[in-house]
Amino acid sequence: MPSGSQCVIVRLSGHGGFRHRLMELGFVRGEKVRVIKNAPLRDPIEYEIMQSHVSLRRVEAQHIEVVPLTDEVADNYTFNGTLTEDAQRILGEHGKTVNVALVGNPNCGKTSFFNHATGMREKVGNYSGVTVDSKLGVFKYKDYTIRIFDLPGTYSLTDYTPEELYVREHIFNNHPDVVLNIVDASNLERNLFLTTQLIDMNVPMVMALNMYDELEKNNDTLDVEMLSKMLGFPIVPTVSSRGNGIEDVMKHIVDVYENLEANTKHIHINYGQDIEKSIDVLKDIIKQDADVDSEYPARYVAIKLLENDQTTLKSISNHAEIETLKKVAAEQRALLEKRYKEDAATVISGAKYGFIRGALAETYTIGKDRSKQRAYTVDNLITHKWLGFPILIFFLFFMFLMTFILGAYPQEWLEMFFGWLGNVTDKLMPDGMLKDLVVDGIIAGVGGVCSFLPNILILFFFISILEDTGYMARAAFIMDKLMHRMGLHGKSFIPYIIGFGCSVPAIMATRTLENKKDRILTIITVPFMSCSARLPVYLLLISALFTTSHGMLVTGVYKGLILTSIYLVGIVMAILTSLLMKKIAFKHNSDQFVMELPPYRIPTFRNAVIHMWDKSVQYLKKMGTVILLATIIIWALEYFPQHSPQIDRYTAQIERVEADTTLAQADREAQVAQLELDRSSVQTENSYLGRVGKVIAPVFRPLGFDWKMSVSLLTGFAAKEIVVSSMGVLYHADTEADENSSALKASIQAQTWTSGKLAGQKVFTPLVAYVFMIFILLYVPCVAAVSAVYKEAGGKWALFSVLFNTSLAWIVSFLIYQIGMLL
Ligand code: GDP
Ligand code: MG
Repeated sequence: MPSGSQCVIVRLSGHGGFRHRLMELGFVRGEKVRVIKNAPLRDPIEYEIMQSHVSLRRVEAQHIEVVPLTDEVADNYTFNGTLTEDAQRILGEHGKTVNVALVGNPNCGKTSFFNHATGMREKVGNYSGVTVDSKLGVFKYKDYTIRIFDLPGTYSLTDYTPEELYVREHIFNNHPDVVLNIVDASNLERNLFLTTQLIDMNVPMVMALNMYDELEKNNDTLDVEMLSKMLGFPIVPTVSSRGNGIEDVMKHIVDVYENLEANTKHIHINYGQDIEKSIDVLKDIIKQDADVDSEYPARYVAIKLLENDQTTLKSISNHAEIETLKKVAAEQRALLEKRYKEDAATVISGAKYGFIRGALAETYTIGKDRSKQRAYTVDNLITHKWLGFPILIFFLFFMFLMTFILGAYPQEWLEMFFGWLGNVTDKLMPDGMLKDLVVDGIIAGVGGVCSFLPNILILFFFISILEDTGYMARAAFIMDKLMHRMGLHGKSFIPYIIGFGCSVPAIMATRTLENKKDRILTIITVPFMSCSARLPVYLLLISALFTTSHGMLVTGVYKGLILTSIYLVGIVMAILTSLLMKKIAFKHNSDQFVMELPPYRIPTFRNAVIHMWDKSVQYLKKMGTVILLATIIIWALEYFPQHSPQIDRYTAQIERVEADTTLAQADREAQVAQLELDRSSVQTENSYLGRVGKVIAPVFRPLGFDWKMSVSLLTGFAAKEIVVSSMGVLYHADTEADENSSALKASIQAQTWTSGKLAGQKVFTPLVAYVFMIFILLYVPCVAAVSAVYKEAGGKWALFSVLFNTSLAWIVSFLIYQIGMLL
């Protein structure tokens, strides 16, 4: 089109992602475009469309077919989304021609379909030609001209055979408006393999489920509608040898062509964490060249490069970064090969079959007579109706048990190490503020948190093993029904399990959920899964207050029940929240999507360690940054101001006792120690932290908390595990502050109210301790988790998470406390 001229858009070609981008810019059929000017080097070109100016590159503009308009016609032309009669007339035959490519396995009935649709008489039978060829048939359907290409049959779209290459080239060079994937319904698993490759290519699709008569004869059943929702394109049962269903297929082809099909969405096949990571790395490089990016879907090219597909490499040989791309692709392939001991192409096709198995497991049942012959597999056992749940519970129980049993040893060593480090530093550094900061602030604070690292690493190690074997996907599968009742998807189950370790990687794991609303719902509810950072608080309070006089075993069971009940409250709150949110914010039916059932693999230690590490990095980052900073801030708020008349009086008194030679050495030391403890207690109360705590204390009063507990809660926003060290400081259990510290336990047990209605009574009753634990479970997630929510779901949801969780915590705690007091 010369500069200044006007035209109407007839059709867009190119891959789905590209067409989608153009459509977002306003390039849709029937829209009027004016060419403003060609850039000096004739590229890009500036167009006016819908009153705005858009510049397109030549390679992009090539994919837009138009009819020119004379100025006179153009001035009277209007378009508001639907084609007026006027527009219809101008477009005329243009844009009413639909190019359809028949793609399918050999002998699935393509030629039969072709013959029935076109009324032609092509030879039906086994394709066995040496020449690879296609037949073109043209016919009218309603007022559309359908040009249908009968392509050679293929099982796959690699570049091994001339047929495969031919079909691929046809799709990329001729840009069919719709690809009609013909599938042999009596052999779904094998036929759908080709379908997964078409999905990667991101082409507009309709599926003809041919040989449907065979499927019925076998007494198999298939939920066609559900499968169609999962795959994201229309599926029509046909019997092409008799011509059944062909009319219906044509209707859907036209609908897809006109973008009128309701149930279309572009899905991604999930290739598992390692391959997806490699795909992302390659995609980023591919997208750097806009020419290649508009010609081929970047994801498809990335997958093909991982498969080491030479044809694809050749077709993008003009990519600006081709050498880097080759090098990185080779690196990624080597990496995958090393991990899986198989080439990447095999791993990818394994994942494709995993996708197919998952899709069929939910939609397809084999007829009674045939299913008897089916071999008994591990899969049948693990996903068994009755046995599935006990097996799942056993694995989870085993995982948590190992986490705490195995984790206890390194935890002890780390505690000893930090204790030692604190002592040494204490001796080496000169007295003063810096020493207080290092010893009481940094070493005590970060050390306390560090001691949980082993538990977290072990938990993630087990989670990685469950994922690597393929079990986690089955777990998600058997949980699907239950999760649906909560308004969630089976895939949410995995983030929930990770959430018991740490919310941060759990929130990131929601990326496998394709539907945005399911993702947000999961992200919002994940923090209710009690993360391992909250455990120290529970352990401290339970061991301090929930004791019985009935011996070890009874006490152990009692404590275990209390702890379990807290975890359960979290789970129940997650369920209630998601049901509530579903009612209020997300009134929609959850989208169907495929839950892959990837091949079972023997996990390797190495891979499990690598995956464990990937997940733990988030937690480690949080320790190095947020927790360190928070520790210093809290320390400072508690440390200053250093002087007040009352504190100074204590200091003077200490000096007096120290100078008093009439006292025995031991007496003197005991008195000094007591006075120092009293002084620091007064100092804390007078500190900035203490003052803030007293201001907010009335808010927590109806929950039975004193001001020290309120302050501890405030500090818990930085990281839940800090609550314990704050309590250590505030209740003056010496400097030692961890959940094993018997001094802190004793101090907590001894606390009494100094004023008010309850004066003289104990602060910590089992009821108060329980309410306090519930509050810690439910209230605002830690800074790191909130920032993860912010990154994954946006500021609105991060704010929601802060406000909602805190309000919920207050309300639930209030109810438990008040009801408990009445009883
Ligand atoms: P193509 O290789 O994909 O072109 O498949 P053809 O159209 O040549 O068909 C292969 C064989 O399957 C022929 O014998 C057809 O008669 C038969 N066939 C095609 N469609 C159906 C169908 O829907 N049901 C049944 N039972 N047979 C069919
Ligand atoms: Mg044929």
